[in-house]
Amino acid sequence: MPSTHRIGELSWTQVKALAAQDPVVLLPIGAIEQHGPHLPVHEDSIVAEWVADRLARENGYYVAPALNYGHSGTFRGYPGNLSLSQATLRNVTYEIIEALVQSGFSRIVIVDNNGGNVGPVTGASLDARRDLGVLIGHLYPWQLGYALMRDVYEDPGAAYGHGAEPEHSAMLAMFPEQVQRELAVAGGLESAGGWTPTSYTEAAVPGFTVPGTVFWDFSEVSPTGCTGDVSLGNAATGEIWIERVLGFCAAYLREYDKNTSGER
Ligand SMILES: [Zn+2]
Repeated sequence: MPSTHRIGELSWTQVKALAAQDPVVLLPIGAIEQHGPHLPVHEDSIVAEWVADRLARENGYYVAPALNYGHSGTFRGYPGNLSLSQATLRNVTYEIIEALVQSGFSRIVIVDNNGGNVGPVTGASLDARRDLGVLIGHLYPWQLGYALMRDVYEDPGAAYGHGAEPEHSAMLAMFPEQVQRELAVAGGLESAGGWTPTSYTEAAVPGFTVPGTVFWDFSEVSPTGCTGDVSLGNAATGEIWIERVLGFCAAYLREYDKNTSGER
């Protein structure tokens, strides 16, 4: 058996031998969508793969070849948005799970790094539970970062955003050569059609602090594609992101490993 944690580097006979050991397999799923003028459109994909690869290498798990395309329905107005439909992503995700099961694997955790993917990936995972009997785990690094990084910022509400914190700092720590800081512009949302937008698909409702939901394309309310404070990005903050997000993921995977071992 070669010393690799990447299933794509194995031959079929080696995959057969590996599957017989019933390892935990990580499946990275990303997206190709805008994150402001300073960040690359394949950001969600390279981060999903980076996180999955490192978790596998450091903790004795295996990583399947990544699915780099996802569902980005809300960013169609920005060039470079290479989005699958929800139905296609759901089918592709299910069929990859099915193929992994057919190859002999039964313990699969999806490292999914895009909000638009969550619905289709959840649907595919529940179908897999029902039809294939496997229990699919799910890790969402960007989302975990929002939850785990709040105390790092004076005002997380102002710092956080699409293309801003904490993803901007995380990118500076993981892929500094792919961040074009000189192109970063202050983001923000603009009123459109009488609405006062408060987030991707939410708008203010007079008299209430609770927003209402409307489904415009993000490009209709955000000319730069960016929200939050782009001036706060720095690699040191990104190192905290890596430590906390990977720390949580490693603990989650230990729990998944323990609770699924001997299931089949
Ligand atoms: Zn994204």
